[in-house]
Amino acid sequence: MRSCRDISALISQGLDKKLSLGERFAVWLHVMMCIRCRNFRTQSQFIRKAARHYTDNLQSRLDRKS
Ligand SMILES: [Zn+2]
Repeated sequence: MRSCRDISALISQGLDKKLSLGERFAVWLHVMMCIRCRNFRTQSQFIRKAARHYTDNLQSRLDRKS
């Protein structure tokens, strides 16, 4: 089993690019057993979504002004 450090790095990478099947499997297997990494993944996804929502909002506001 991979370490939590490896898995959290993969989770972060997975937000920006598509992970390979093997990497996704490693993450999946790990979060099944590790609550800390599961929480980390949930929080990362939430932050990413909130950040995207914020930048989209900002962009549409800027579009409206011009
Ligand atoms: Zn872990």
